[in-house]
Amino acid sequence: MRVRGMRDVLPGEARRWRDVESAMVDVLDRFAYQEVRLPMLETVELFSRGVGEATDIVEKEMYCLTDRDGQAMALRPEGTAGCARALDENGMLYNQTQRVFYRGPMFRYERPQKGRYRQFHQIGVEAFGLSGPDIDAELIQLGCELWRALGIAGEVRLELNSIGSPAARAAFREALIGWLEPRKASLDPDSRRRLATNPLRILDSKSEETRRALDNGPAFKDYLDDASSEHYAGLKALLAELDIDYVENPRLVRGLDYYTRSVFEWTTDRLGAQGAICAGGRYDGLVELLGGRATPAAGFAIGVERVVLLHDAVHGVSPEVPADVYCCVLQPGLHGAALAAVQRLRRMAPALRFRVHAGGGKLKNQLKRADRSGARWALLFGEAEIREGLAALKDLRGSAEQERLRLADVAARLNGRRAAKE
Ligand code: ATP
Ligand code: MG
Repeated sequence: MRVRGMRDVLPGEARRWRDVESAMVDVLDRFAYQEVRLPMLETVELFSRGVGEATDIVEKEMYCLTDRDGQAMALRPEGTAGCARALDENGMLYNQTQRVFYRGPMFRYERPQKGRYRQFHQIGVEAFGLSGPDIDAELIQLGCELWRALGIAGEVRLELNSIGSPAARAAFREALIGWLEPRKASLDPDSRRRLATNPLRILDSKSEETRRALDNGPAFKDYLDDASSEHYAGLKALLAELDIDYVENPRLVRGLDYYTRSVFEWTTDRLGAQGAICAGGRYDGLVELLGGRATPAAGFAIGVERVVLLHDAVHGVSPEVPADVYCCVLQPGLHGAALAAVQRLRRMAPALRFRVHAGGGKLKNQLKRADRSGARWALLFGEAEIREGLAALKDLRGSAEQERLRLADVAARLNGRRAAKE
């Protein structure tokens, strides 16, 4: 039995995943961000320091295990802390800037539902060593370009906020506690608990009652420090110049403790409650928190499952056809020669997918399989064809006559058809 919250990604969907991921990686390449590949297992301490003890992630969502040496380990619930650790530990943050991305599975023990799983995948993008709003704007521009490449730009909305310096947040936090303490009875149980541990997270609550209790309460913008205000204004000016639309959401906070200043999120209305497809912001405090030198940084993480869901909702899903050409072998003794011939064809027509029938059987049955596979063409190898270096090409979806052709002509014909189709 599959473990709760885990998903099996089967052929058709896996193909779409690959297309979606490679379109995004392509954009990242063109923005000159470099890929890093990072471990899935880290120490618990990395996350309790880097993400924060009072966050949902660390408090109740982490998959922890003790290894044979008695060390407390966790399956990574997110990628930023590990990325900062890795770059710092490898001396890549001192006196230099880095723009990197990573991808892979993350693990959180939460209630599984559509768009929310216990193993899910992120593509994370991080820029280190850059403190100005220029890099925040670049990251947002990069996000926009990702959605454009996937054809989902029209379905997402950018939300923006600034959560200021740690000192500004501390002052706001006090004001918020002061406002909510007398209204405690109307908060949902999670928010009541957070009032003591992580009150900023209450702003993010989905409970209607809690949201009402926050109305007319302290507004973060009144607590924003001057330097953060200036940074925020700089970012907004750049976005205006880039013609990037956004809505300011004063209640946008991040679940992770290490954010400072800019925070942003892309959401969609097409996925129900799990509408956030990408979230990020600036986290100037993280590297130092992990024991490195103070290093400004900003980044975002994309939820790949949700992006694929959105992509499917926008573009539809058609069943995957695994092969373009289904090759039939008329006699068992010809199989080796047919495999060799098809291999020559694969080299001559590299954009096409050839599947060779296996397991023998009558031609009629092989053609039935060819038809059911959805392939456009069948290619037949009989004794005469193999002897003369030919193959019989049959258009399974059209009315053209079957033709005996030299292999090179088969390739030319298939390449031509493919080109004409595209
Ligand atoms: P949410 O509010 O939906 O729980 P989050 O604030 O916990 O999201 P982040 O930690 O910022 O999310 O992660 C960035 C992105 O990763 C999210 O915007 C979302 O697209 C995706 N994501 C987060 N948790 C899950 C999950 N359990 N399953 C699938 N995708 C997820
Ligand atoms: Mg969450």
